Formats: sequence, C-alpha cells, structure tokens
Amino acid sequence: MSSPRSSDERAYAALRAEAVVDLDAISANVSRLRAHVDNRDVLAVVKADGYGHGIIQSARAARVGGAGWLGVALISEALQLRAAGDTGPVLCWLTVPGERYADAIAAHVELAVYSVDQLGEIDSAARQVGRRVGIHLKLDSGLGRGGATPDDWGPLIEAAAFAQESGAIEVTGVFSHLACADEPSHPSVKAQVTEFEAGVSRALEAGLEPRHLHLANSPATLALPDTWWTMVRPGIAIFGLSPFADGLSPVLLEPAMTLRARLALVKRVPPGQGISYGHTYITTRETTLGLVPIGYADGVPRSASNQGEVLVRGQRFRMVGRVCMDQFVIDLGDAEAAAGDPVVIFGDPRRGEPSALDWANAAGTIGYEIVTRIGPRIPRSYRSAVT
Ligand SMILES: *Cc1c(COP(=O)(O)O)cnc(C)c1O
Repeated sequence: MSSPRSSDERAYAALRAEAVVDLDAISANVSRLRAHVDNRDVLAVVKADGYGHGIIQSARAARVGGAGWLGVALISEALQLRAAGDTGPVLCWLTVPGERYADAIAAHVELAVYSVDQLGEIDSAARQVGRRVGIHLKLDSGLGRGGATPDDWGPLIEAAAFAQESGAIEVTGVFSHLACADEPSHPSVKAQVTEFEAGVSRALEAGLEPRHLHLANSPATLALPDTWWTMVRPGIAIFGLSPFADGLSPVLLEPAMTLRARLALVKRVPPGQGISYGHTYITTRETTLGLVPIGYADGVPRSASNQGEVLVRGQRFRMVGRVCMDQFVIDLGDAEAAAGDPVVIFGDPRRGEPSALDWANAAGTIGYEIVTRIGPRIPRSYRSAVT
C-alpha cells in the first residue's frame, strides 16, 4: 500500500484530500445496535480494512462500543487484529485449501467451516499446533454462496461431531447468511429462517452444542428480530450507513467517514466550454469552475460523472463532465470560492453534507462500495474523545 506513513507525510497528503473517521461514531453505532437487539452478542464486521475506515482503529472502536466479537473474511485480517493487540473473540469465514490455518489457530482465531474437506484440514492443523480450535459451521440456507447446502449439512455435522469427540475441534457456533434482508418482506427471508432453524435442530440432534447461533447482517439486525438468535453480525451499520435503498434506519446511525478535499483551482469560463474528457458537459453561460483534486484512483466512481454533488462554503454543487483518474470539476455558478477552499465529498447529511449513499445512488451502486473503495492515496485521520 502506498498510504502515507509518517504523520508529516499524512499531513502533507491531507493538504489535497483526506478521509476523517469519527471513531466515537463507530462506538456509538455499535452500542445502539446492541441495545436494539436486547443486548445480544454483537459481532462487528471489520473486513476489507474496516469497510475502508481502517481495520485496527475500527476494531478498537467497536470493542469500546460493546462488540464482544469481531468478524473478518480473511485469516490475514484476523492476524492483523492480533498483531495490533486485540485478544478478544474473532471469527474468520473465507479460506481456501492450503490456508495458514495453524497460524490462525495459534492466534486463537475461530474459523468458519463450509465443507468436510476443510474440516479435515483444520483438524490436522489443530493437532499440529496442539490446541483446540473453535469452529462455526456454516449452512447455506438459501444465499447460494458459501456454506454447506442442506443436502451436505448431514455429513458436515456428523464429521464435526466426530472431530469434536476426538478432541481437536469444538463446534462453538452455527451460522448462515441472508440474501435479501435489505428487502425485509422478501419471501426468501422467511424461507432462510426456516431452513436455518432446521439446520440448527439437526446439529443439536447430532450432539453438537453450539453456543453462538447467528444469521443477521446489518439489515436483519435493524429490521428482522426473527433472525437475531444469540448474536448479530452487522458491518455497514456500525460505520453509520443504512443498508436499505431508502437510506432510512430504525436505529440512529452516525456516518463515521467524511471524505474531504481542497479546491486545486477556481476559474471563470465562457459559455460553450466543454468540460473534461469527452466534453460530456458544455457550459451554457459564463460560470465558475472548481477543480477537485481526487478521482477514480481515489474511489470517486467514474459512473457518477455529471451526477455527484459536493459541499463548498455550505452550499451543494454538482460535478460536471467526467470523473478523471485524479480529479473532477464542479460548476460553482456565480458563487464565491477560492483555491484551497475545503470541499466535502461526502459525510453526514445531518450537517447538510452529501452522504455516501447519495454518491452510491449517483453511481448506480451501494454505499458499501463507496466507502470500501477509497484508495490508498487518501490518508485517513481519526477523531475520538474516547477511544
Ligand atoms: C460482510 C458480511 C456481514 C456484514 O454484512 P453487512 O451487510 O455489512 O452488515 C455479515 N456476515 C457475513 C458472513 C459477511 O460476509
């Protein structure tokens, strides 16, 4: 990664642009989500560098807010958390054959298991390390992605019960993942809940005693109490973004990330001026242009060309022309502005700023992709009174 390392470098890079992350917002979001699920366990998902917010800082803030568990996709992410001193429960759920299972087991990371083959590999790694490993069996209750199908579930729970008897493995959890929780009345939700219920019953009948039963991602945590079981797994919601298309949430979510930049140039142009590559926008009158010095290499989606809005001196202005690799242009009309002025690309709509969801809508994507793809040239800086 080419992220600036020293604080001098960071401050220098921040002259151009920075992502400011409010860690107290993450803690408060976790704490409110936990209250919303009647104090069930919360597994805060901090994969993909904490959805672009910084995995280590986000993990700490989530723990402060009451996350008993952290969830990541990759073993390397789990080991990053351990290297930074996190000693609490961590679940990792995406591995390939030949994975560094021994390192994960030695670091007390619990592992999701999708298949009998994977179980065998983890069992031998645990024997080699000489430590029992906690595993969470994953049922594909209908997402059609990872996990064992209901047909393959029988052999998987049998093999897990056998491995547990022989000592190297302990089945601490059973879980699944929802396909359409962001549309709470979608019929697949009920079908998946029923399938999960059946899978849990079969696991209990096979003699397993998983303490952690979990199904709920952010939308389910917010809107589907039937999916809460013993633990919920919110990701995007802890970063303060609603997973729903309408951007609403029954729990107050504070966006943790503000992406800002400073105008590189402000200039007057005549009518008829084509703007940026391809001249997809042409001025209709004399106007003032502002040059925003971040582009698609920094995560500004090119598909938001001519659509995205930013805030300058308390007013919203629209991007004109195409987003380039390093920059884009806004039409300031006749507003007062100067090079060096701060520009908020997205932040908290309660402050009048565009939201990451506004950008997602402008680009035809979801808020998750907007925050997760902020590039390595943008330094992150952190604000917190608590963490
Ligand atoms: C990413 C992920 C989550 C979190 O999803 P959100 O929609 O961000 O809440 C939960 N569980 C699993 C298995 C995931 O991969």
